[in-house]
Amino acid sequence: MSETDDPEQDLGITESKEYATGDWYAEVVQKANLASYGPDGMSGFIVTRPRGYALWERLEAHLDGMFKQTGVQNAYFPMFIPESYLEREKEIVEGFDPEVAWVETAGTEELDERLAVRPTSESIINPYLSQWVRSHRDLPIRVNQWCSVVRWEATETKPFFRTKEFLWQEGHTAHETEAEAWDETTTRLDQYESVYEDVLAMPVLRGQKPDHDKFPGADTTTTVEALMPDGKSVQGGTSHYLGTSFAEAFDITYADEDETEQTAHTTSWGLSWRSLGALIMTHSDDQGLVLPPTVAPEQIVIVPIWQADTKEAVLDYASELAADLDDAGVRVELDDRDSRNPGFKYNEWELKGVPVRLEVGPNEVDDGEVTAVHRPDGETVTLDREGVNEAVRGELDEVYAKLYAAAEETLDGEIRDADSRAEILGTIGQHGGYVRAPWCGEEDCEAKIKDQIAAEIVMVPFPEDDDHHPDNEASDDEASDDADCAVCGEPAVRTAYYAKTY
Ligand SMILES: [Zn+2]
Repeated sequence: MSETDDPEQDLGITESKEYATGDWYAEVVQKANLASYGPDGMSGFIVTRPRGYALWERLEAHLDGMFKQTGVQNAYFPMFIPESYLEREKEIVEGFDPEVAWVETAGTEELDERLAVRPTSESIINPYLSQWVRSHRDLPIRVNQWCSVVRWEATETKPFFRTKEFLWQEGHTAHETEAEAWDETTTRLDQYESVYEDVLAMPVLRGQKPDHDKFPGADTTTTVEALMPDGKSVQGGTSHYLGTSFAEAFDITYADEDETEQTAHTTSWGLSWRSLGALIMTHSDDQGLVLPPTVAPEQIVIVPIWQADTKEAVLDYASELAADLDDAGVRVELDDRDSRNPGFKYNEWELKGVPVRLEVGPNEVDDGEVTAVHRPDGETVTLDREGVNEAVRGELDEVYAKLYAAAEETLDGEIRDADSRAEILGTIGQHGGYVRAPWCGEEDCEAKIKDQIAAEIVMVPFPEDDDHHPDNEASDDEASDDADCAVCGEPAVRTAYYAKTY
């Protein structure tokens, strides 16, 4: 059975994005043929279908290109990690223990040492970095792997957002100095920001996690956060400056120019397919999937409209159009199926998220034109057949700009200020979104919010980015000068963004 004949998707979307966001999301993912749920007895696993995997491949290509331009090399490490390797990490962190899946037998034999299925690869990559780094001439060293990891969480499955196995990339680097490692950390965060803004048409907030919520063992965890339409925040990618703690635990040392042994500074950074979940959730609507042209498997679908007497002329015109666009590097699909009428085809390609539909009927043939329809808002534009390749590029760019603008408008409207605990609770309770408030830096104050409304501090802006920072002289927001923590009233040291999360 071919993808387009899948009976599932004939039904259309029945759930409402606004009123049943979770059910709607699950329906879009399945009916747009992005993913299926795993076999019975394997809850938490999904099968990524070709249309879903194509999104991941485009994201991967963009990010991988940026990595390679900035000194990263790809490598691949085993998916199993000996227990003794994970134990070494316990010098610095509690670890992932409850979420780790273990292999204890192979065939009929019990293993001498059980093997963890990697929940992340610090504990197997760092011992090799230790072997490979001898002198300052070996630094910096940057390895990345594209792989899957497994975290056996017993939570409800949500394709791309919450699955026991998920695809990601994890980068691991070692450097001579703190300054270089910190520069690496922010370079990767910039690249994650670029994935969202330049590929997924989503603005993000960037900053640090509070100290009590950083990656175990890290000195600093930085994050990009994306707002979902239900008012919850998604952690879109994290980049960690690990200080020297991992290097000390795994003996990553180097001889400096004076032949003195020094401890390296390390980083790690990861972005998972949760970014696809955020993409689908952000742009799609009650008609189905909406995709930016940057990642769409088909950027353009051509739907010919014919009667018996015009069929040949229309199909000739449409085929030539498809060939021209294909030659110009546009990902184009000509839907010339006899068995379906144009209305059915419109609905189907809307469900599947094709950014622009080109309609070609006898009028277009006679006038030397093409009718273009934008997926996000149905805007219809007449294009001249002459020079259509250029014009189509313009329409695709316009669709991207529309999606970005809509997401940006939503985000801007969902950041609200609060000066008291009651106001934080009330604002998140009523509107969702982000609430920005002065914060003393104590975990206790976050706990007082978390206990009542399951919202937490998702992000603290970097001081230089923070217009509301109490010490920021350049701030034109007088209300935040000399601000006190909204929860406890002690002097604030940072601005905190509270939100509910995925
Ligand atoms: Zn406080």
